[in-house]
Amino acid sequence: MKNTGQDDKVYSIEFFPPKTVEGREKLKNTIKDLGKLNPRYFSVTFGAGGSTQQGTLETVFDIQEAGFDAAPHLSCIGSKKKDLRDLLNTYIDRGINRIVALRGDIPSGMGGDAGEFRYANELVEFIRKETGDHFYIEVAAYPEFHPQAPNAATDMKNFVRKVKAGADSAITQYFYNPEAYFRFVDEAAGLGVDIPVFAGIMPITNFEQLARFSDTCGAEIPRWIRKRLEGYGNDIESIRNFGMEVTIDLCRTLIKGGAPGLHFFSMNQAGPTTAIWKALDL
Ligand code: FAD
Repeated sequence: MKNTGQDDKVYSIEFFPPKTVEGREKLKNTIKDLGKLNPRYFSVTFGAGGSTQQGTLETVFDIQEAGFDAAPHLSCIGSKKKDLRDLLNTYIDRGINRIVALRGDIPSGMGGDAGEFRYANELVEFIRKETGDHFYIEVAAYPEFHPQAPNAATDMKNFVRKVKAGADSAITQYFYNPEAYFRFVDEAAGLGVDIPVFAGIMPITNFEQLARFSDTCGAEIPRWIRKRLEGYGNDIESIRNFGMEVTIDLCRTLIKGGAPGLHFFSMNQAGPTTAIWKALDL
Protein backbone atom coordinates (compact mmCIF):
# COMPACT_ATOMS: atom_id res chain seq x y z
CA MET A 1 0.00 0.00 0.00
CA LYS A 2 1.77 3.14 -1.19
CA ASN A 3 0.86 6.80 -1.12
CA THR A 4 0.03 7.89 -4.61
CA GLY A 5 0.70 11.58 -4.11
CA GLN A 6 2.67 13.67 -6.54
CA ASP A 7 5.89 13.27 -4.57
CA ASP A 8 7.75 10.53 -2.74
CA LYS A 9 6.91 11.76 0.75
CA VAL A 10 5.81 9.20 3.30
CA TYR A 11 2.54 9.69 5.18
CA SER A 12 1.71 7.24 7.95
CA ILE A 13 -0.80 6.94 10.78
CA GLU A 14 -0.44 5.67 14.35
CA PHE A 15 -2.92 3.78 16.56
CA PHE A 16 -2.81 2.49 20.10
CA PRO A 17 -4.22 -0.97 20.91
CA PRO A 18 -7.82 -0.75 22.16
CA LYS A 19 -8.49 -2.18 25.63
CA THR A 20 -11.93 -3.67 25.00
CA VAL A 21 -13.67 -5.90 22.45
CA GLU A 22 -15.92 -2.97 21.48
CA GLY A 23 -12.86 -0.76 21.11
CA ARG A 24 -11.30 -3.31 18.77
CA GLU A 25 -14.43 -3.41 16.59
CA LYS A 26 -14.55 0.37 16.50
CA LEU A 27 -10.91 0.56 15.49
CA LYS A 28 -11.55 -1.86 12.62
CA ASN A 29 -13.96 0.76 11.20
CA THR A 30 -11.42 3.52 11.80
CA ILE A 31 -8.81 1.47 9.91
CA LYS A 32 -11.25 1.20 6.99
CA ASP A 33 -11.99 4.94 7.07
CA LEU A 34 -8.36 6.02 7.33
CA GLY A 35 -7.37 3.34 4.81
CA LYS A 36 -9.22 5.40 2.18
CA LEU A 37 -6.46 8.00 2.56
CA ASN A 38 -3.94 5.41 1.38
CA PRO A 39 -1.27 5.87 4.07
CA ARG A 40 2.08 4.17 3.50
CA TYR A 41 1.48 2.15 6.70
CA PHE A 42 -0.32 2.14 10.05
CA SER A 43 1.82 1.81 13.18
CA VAL A 44 0.64 0.43 16.54
CA THR A 45 2.06 1.44 19.92
CA PHE A 46 3.41 -1.07 22.44
CA GLY A 47 3.32 -0.71 26.22
CA ALA A 48 6.68 -0.85 28.00
CA GLY A 49 7.51 -4.22 29.49
CA GLY A 50 5.11 -5.85 27.02
CA SER A 51 2.06 -4.52 28.89
CA THR A 52 0.03 -4.23 25.66
CA GLN A 53 1.73 -7.01 23.74
CA GLN A 54 -1.44 -8.97 22.97
CA GLY A 55 -3.36 -5.84 22.00
CA THR A 56 -0.52 -4.67 19.76
CA LEU A 57 -0.42 -8.05 18.01
CA GLU A 58 -4.20 -8.12 17.53
CA THR A 59 -4.27 -4.59 16.13
CA VAL A 60 -1.38 -5.36 13.78
CA PHE A 61 -3.27 -8.42 12.51
CA ASP A 62 -6.48 -6.39 12.07
CA ILE A 63 -4.55 -3.87 9.96
CA GLN A 64 -3.09 -6.63 7.81
CA GLU A 65 -6.48 -8.27 7.43
CA ALA A 66 -7.90 -4.97 6.17
CA GLY A 67 -5.18 -5.05 3.48
CA PHE A 68 -2.70 -2.49 4.80
CA ASP A 69 0.93 -2.55 5.89
CA ALA A 70 1.41 -2.52 9.65
CA ALA A 71 4.42 -1.40 11.68
CA PRO A 72 4.37 -2.53 15.31
CA HIS A 73 6.18 -0.40 17.86
CA LEU A 74 8.48 -2.33 20.16
CA SER A 75 9.68 -0.82 23.42
CA CYS A 76 12.51 -2.57 25.22
CA ILE A 77 12.60 -1.28 28.79
CA GLY A 78 11.46 -3.97 31.23
CA SER A 79 11.84 -6.66 28.53
CA LYS A 80 13.90 -9.82 28.25
CA LYS A 81 15.86 -10.67 25.11
CA LYS A 82 14.14 -14.01 24.81
CA ASP A 83 10.67 -12.46 24.78
CA LEU A 84 11.61 -9.85 22.21
CA ARG A 85 13.28 -12.51 20.05
CA ASP A 86 10.05 -14.55 20.09
CA LEU A 87 8.01 -11.48 19.22
CA LEU A 88 10.31 -10.53 16.34
CA ASN A 89 9.97 -14.05 14.98
CA THR A 90 6.18 -13.83 15.21
CA TYR A 91 6.32 -10.62 13.17
CA ILE A 92 8.63 -12.19 10.60
CA ASP A 93 6.23 -15.15 10.27
CA ARG A 94 3.35 -12.71 9.72
CA GLY A 95 5.17 -10.86 6.96
CA ILE A 96 5.85 -7.70 8.97
CA ASN A 97 8.99 -5.89 7.85
CA ARG A 98 8.78 -2.47 9.48
CA ILE A 99 9.19 -1.82 13.18
CA VAL A 100 9.34 1.28 15.40
CA ALA A 101 12.07 0.60 18.00
CA LEU A 102 11.82 2.47 21.31
CA ARG A 103 13.03 2.42 24.84
CA GLY A 104 9.60 3.13 26.34
CA ASP A 105 8.82 4.32 29.86
CA ILE A 106 8.06 1.89 32.66
CA PRO A 107 4.55 2.80 33.81
CA SER A 108 4.39 3.63 37.52
CA GLY A 109 3.14 0.64 39.48
CA MET A 110 4.80 -1.87 37.14
CA GLY A 111 7.78 -2.36 39.45
CA GLY A 112 11.39 -1.38 38.99
CA ASP A 113 12.71 -4.25 36.83
CA ALA A 114 14.31 -2.52 33.87
CA GLY A 115 14.93 -5.83 32.09
CA GLU A 116 17.86 -6.48 29.78
CA PHE A 117 17.84 -3.22 27.82
CA ARG A 118 18.47 0.33 28.96
CA TYR A 119 18.22 2.43 25.80
CA ALA A 120 16.71 2.27 22.34
CA ASN A 121 20.11 2.04 20.63
CA GLU A 122 20.57 -1.34 22.37
CA LEU A 123 17.23 -2.50 20.96
CA VAL A 124 18.17 -1.39 17.43
CA GLU A 125 21.48 -3.30 17.76
CA PHE A 126 19.62 -6.35 19.05
CA ILE A 127 17.10 -6.33 16.17
CA ARG A 128 19.90 -6.00 13.61
CA LYS A 129 21.93 -8.78 15.28
CA GLU A 130 18.96 -11.14 15.48
CA THR A 131 17.25 -10.43 12.17
CA GLY A 132 19.82 -8.75 9.91
CA ASP A 133 18.22 -6.45 7.38
CA HIS A 134 14.77 -8.02 7.58
CA PHE A 135 13.20 -5.02 9.30
CA TYR A 136 13.04 -1.41 8.23
CA ILE A 137 13.66 0.19 11.64
CA GLU A 138 12.25 3.54 12.74
CA VAL A 139 13.40 5.26 15.93
CA ALA A 140 12.08 8.23 17.89
CA ALA A 141 13.51 11.75 17.59
CA TYR A 142 12.90 14.76 19.82
CA PRO A 143 13.16 18.18 18.13
CA GLU A 144 12.45 19.81 21.52
CA PHE A 145 14.65 17.21 23.25
CA HIS A 146 13.77 14.26 25.42
CA PRO A 147 12.55 15.33 28.89
CA GLN A 148 15.13 13.14 30.68
CA ALA A 149 18.12 14.30 28.64
CA PRO A 150 20.67 16.29 30.66
CA ASN A 151 21.10 18.72 27.77
CA ALA A 152 20.39 19.16 24.07
CA ALA A 153 23.86 18.17 22.85
CA THR A 154 23.84 14.88 24.81
CA ASP A 155 20.36 14.04 23.56
CA MET A 156 21.47 14.67 19.99
CA LYS A 157 24.49 12.38 20.51
CA ASN A 158 22.15 9.71 21.83
CA PHE A 159 19.92 10.12 18.79
CA VAL A 160 22.97 9.63 16.56
CA ARG A 161 23.79 6.39 18.46
CA LYS A 162 20.43 4.93 17.40
CA VAL A 163 21.05 5.88 13.80
CA LYS A 164 24.55 4.36 13.87
CA ALA A 165 23.11 1.20 15.44
CA GLY A 166 21.12 0.69 12.24
CA ALA A 167 17.93 2.79 12.16
CA ASP A 168 16.54 3.45 8.67
CA SER A 169 14.48 6.50 9.56
CA ALA A 170 13.08 8.40 12.52
CA ILE A 171 9.71 9.74 13.61
CA THR A 172 9.64 12.79 15.85
CA GLN A 173 7.70 13.45 18.99
CA TYR A 174 4.97 15.95 18.16
CA PHE A 175 5.79 19.65 18.30
CA TYR A 176 4.22 22.95 17.30
CA ASN A 177 7.46 24.85 16.68
CA PRO A 178 8.56 24.00 13.13
CA GLU A 179 11.83 25.84 13.75
CA ALA A 180 12.75 23.22 16.39
CA TYR A 181 12.27 20.48 13.79
CA PHE A 182 14.29 22.19 11.06
CA ARG A 183 17.15 22.92 13.45
CA PHE A 184 17.14 19.38 14.76
CA VAL A 185 17.30 17.95 11.24
CA ASP A 186 20.09 20.34 10.21
CA GLU A 187 22.13 19.60 13.30
CA ALA A 188 21.67 15.85 12.89
CA ALA A 189 22.77 16.13 9.24
CA GLY A 190 25.86 17.97 10.45
CA LEU A 191 26.64 14.96 12.65
CA GLY A 192 26.39 12.60 9.68
CA VAL A 193 22.74 11.56 10.00
CA ASP A 194 21.44 10.91 6.50
CA ILE A 195 18.19 9.05 7.24
CA PRO A 196 14.76 10.66 6.80
CA VAL A 197 13.27 12.25 9.92
CA PHE A 198 9.47 12.15 9.60
CA ALA A 199 7.55 14.76 11.56
CA GLY A 200 5.11 13.43 14.17
CA ILE A 201 1.83 15.35 14.01
CA MET A 202 -0.65 15.55 16.88
CA PRO A 203 -3.93 17.07 15.69
CA ILE A 204 -5.24 19.52 18.31
CA THR A 205 -8.77 18.55 19.33
CA ASN A 206 -8.84 18.58 23.12
CA PHE A 207 -6.86 21.11 25.13
CA GLU A 208 -6.79 19.33 28.51
CA GLN A 209 -5.63 16.05 27.05
CA LEU A 210 -3.00 17.78 24.95
CA ALA A 211 -1.71 19.77 27.94
CA ARG A 212 -1.44 16.57 30.00
CA PHE A 213 0.47 14.69 27.28
CA SER A 214 2.71 17.62 26.59
CA ASP A 215 3.72 17.94 30.24
CA THR A 216 4.89 14.33 30.35
CA CYS A 217 6.53 14.01 26.95
CA GLY A 218 8.23 17.40 26.93
CA ALA A 219 6.46 18.79 23.83
CA GLU A 220 5.91 22.51 24.15
CA ILE A 221 2.55 24.09 23.43
CA PRO A 222 3.59 27.62 22.43
CA ARG A 223 2.08 30.31 24.65
CA TRP A 224 0.01 31.87 21.87
CA ILE A 225 -1.61 28.51 21.15
CA ARG A 226 -2.10 27.62 24.83
CA LYS A 227 -3.65 31.00 25.63
CA ARG A 228 -6.11 30.79 22.77
CA LEU A 229 -7.09 27.21 23.57
CA GLU A 230 -7.52 28.06 27.26
CA GLY A 231 -9.66 31.02 26.27
CA TYR A 232 -12.15 28.81 24.44
CA GLY A 233 -13.04 27.04 27.72
CA ASN A 234 -15.68 24.39 26.98
CA ASP A 235 -16.34 25.61 23.45
CA ILE A 236 -15.27 22.40 21.74
CA GLU A 237 -16.09 23.61 18.26
CA SER A 238 -13.81 26.64 18.54
CA ILE A 239 -11.02 24.48 20.00
CA ARG A 240 -11.32 22.09 17.05
CA ASN A 241 -11.51 24.82 14.42
CA PHE A 242 -8.51 26.67 15.79
CA GLY A 243 -6.65 23.39 16.44
CA MET A 244 -7.19 22.24 12.87
CA GLU A 245 -6.01 25.57 11.48
CA VAL A 246 -2.83 25.48 13.56
CA THR A 247 -2.08 21.84 12.72
CA ILE A 248 -2.71 22.29 8.99
CA ASP A 249 -0.47 25.39 8.90
CA LEU A 250 2.25 23.45 10.73
CA CYS A 251 2.05 20.57 8.23
CA ARG A 252 2.20 22.99 5.29
CA THR A 253 5.28 24.67 6.73
CA LEU A 254 6.96 21.30 7.31
CA ILE A 255 6.25 19.96 3.84
CA LYS A 256 7.27 23.22 2.19
CA GLY A 257 10.47 23.27 4.25
CA GLY A 258 11.47 19.81 3.04
CA ALA A 259 10.18 17.36 5.66
CA PRO A 260 10.30 13.89 4.03
CA GLY A 261 6.90 12.92 5.41
CA LEU A 262 4.38 13.18 8.23
CA HIS A 263 3.31 10.61 10.84
CA PHE A 264 -0.12 11.27 12.35
CA PHE A 265 -0.86 10.38 15.97
CA SER A 266 -4.50 9.59 15.22
CA MET A 267 -5.56 8.78 18.81
CA ASN A 268 -7.67 6.10 17.09
CA GLN A 269 -9.95 8.80 15.62
CA ALA A 270 -10.50 9.03 11.87
CA GLY A 271 -11.96 12.56 11.77
CA PRO A 272 -9.08 14.91 12.62
CA THR A 273 -6.42 13.07 10.57
CA THR A 274 -8.80 12.83 7.59
CA ALA A 275 -9.61 16.55 7.77
CA ILE A 276 -5.93 17.53 7.84
CA TRP A 277 -4.99 15.04 5.13
CA LYS A 278 -7.71 16.37 2.81
CA ALA A 279 -6.90 20.00 3.51
CA LEU A 280 -3.29 19.29 2.55
CA ASP A 281 -4.30 17.19 -0.45
CA LEU A 282 -1.78 14.50 0.51
P1 FAD B 1 16.08 6.49 23.97
O1 FAD B 1 16.50 6.82 22.59
O2 FAD B 1 16.72 5.31 24.63
O3 FAD B 1 16.31 7.79 24.86
C1 FAD B 1 15.79 7.90 26.18
C2 FAD B 1 16.64 8.86 27.01
O4 FAD B 1 17.90 8.27 27.29
C3 FAD B 1 16.96 10.18 26.32
O5 FAD B 1 17.00 11.18 27.29
C4 FAD B 1 18.35 9.96 25.71
O6 FAD B 1 19.09 11.16 25.59
C5 FAD B 1 18.98 9.00 26.72
N1 FAD B 1 19.85 8.00 26.08
C6 FAD B 1 19.61 7.32 24.94
N2 FAD B 1 20.59 6.44 24.68
C7 FAD B 1 21.48 6.56 25.68
C8 FAD B 1 22.71 5.89 25.99
N3 FAD B 1 23.18 4.93 25.20
N4 FAD B 1 23.38 6.26 27.13
C9 FAD B 1 22.89 7.24 27.94
N5 FAD B 1 21.73 7.91 27.69
C10 FAD B 1 21.03 7.56 26.58
N6 FAD B 1 6.57 4.60 24.20
C11 FAD B 1 6.05 3.37 24.43
O7 FAD B 1 6.15 2.85 25.54
N7 FAD B 1 5.42 2.67 23.43
C12 FAD B 1 5.30 3.16 22.19
O8 FAD B 1 4.74 2.51 21.31
C13 FAD B 1 5.84 4.46 21.90
N8 FAD B 1 5.78 5.01 20.67
C14 FAD B 1 6.40 6.20 20.41
C15 FAD B 1 6.41 6.70 19.10
C16 FAD B 1 7.05 7.89 18.80
C17 FAD B 1 7.06 8.40 17.39
C18 FAD B 1 7.70 8.62 19.83
C19 FAD B 1 8.40 9.91 19.53
C20 FAD B 1 7.69 8.14 21.13
C21 FAD B 1 7.05 6.93 21.44
N9 FAD B 1 7.04 6.39 22.72
C22 FAD B 1 6.48 5.15 22.97
C23 FAD B 1 7.60 7.15 23.85
C24 FAD B 1 9.06 6.78 24.14
O9 FAD B 1 9.15 5.42 24.50
C25 FAD B 1 9.53 7.67 25.27
O10 FAD B 1 9.69 8.98 24.82
C26 FAD B 1 10.78 7.18 26.01
O11 FAD B 1 10.96 8.01 27.17
C27 FAD B 1 12.05 7.28 25.21
O12 FAD B 1 12.10 6.36 24.21
P2 FAD B 1 13.28 6.44 23.12
O13 FAD B 1 13.13 5.24 22.28
O14 FAD B 1 13.31 7.74 22.47
O15 FAD B 1 14.53 6.26 24.10
